[in-house]
Amino acid sequence: MAVRTIFTMGDDVLRKTARPVAAINRRTKQLLEDMADTMYEANGVGLAAPQVGILRRVVVVDIGDGLVELINPEILEQSGSQIEVEGCLSIPGRRCTVERPQKVTVRALDRQGRSFVMEGEGLMAVALCHELDHLDGILYVDKMIEDVTDEQPQEKEGE
Ligand code: ZN
Repeated sequence: MAVRTIFTMGDDVLRKTARPVAAINRRTKQLLEDMADTMYEANGVGLAAPQVGILRRVVVVDIGDGLVELINPEILEQSGSQIEVEGCLSIPGRRCTVERPQKVTVRALDRQGRSFVMEGEGLMAVALCHELDHLDGILYVDKMIEDVTDEQPQEKEGE
């Protein structure tokens, strides 16, 4: 188990564009494992590599029904819209509403380098969009509709 340090808003690394993974190797797999450890340790539902200081297009997500690892993910399609409260492990203590698609279709590589396509609806769509934004240096507060930090108890996890 290797929990990495989570960088927080104000650190430049969160504002840079992450580069695609050119070759999946032992270090990529170690990164995926450390990111999952870090996400679970922080009770998050998602984590993107820039949040641990690595400018690579790597994301892990677990909304409660299993770990999903995504390398070089891209959104192929999106539809509908939803407004939900989000948090972020890189912006501790804040919660804001954001509009996201209701459903997204994402293509990525798995750790064996095989391309796969997945659909995410509801919370999964939120998590995927939130994490993919991190790969382009975008934080959810850039898109926030309303800051609801003080309105609700902070029992919900960050991403
Ligand atoms: Zn985040």
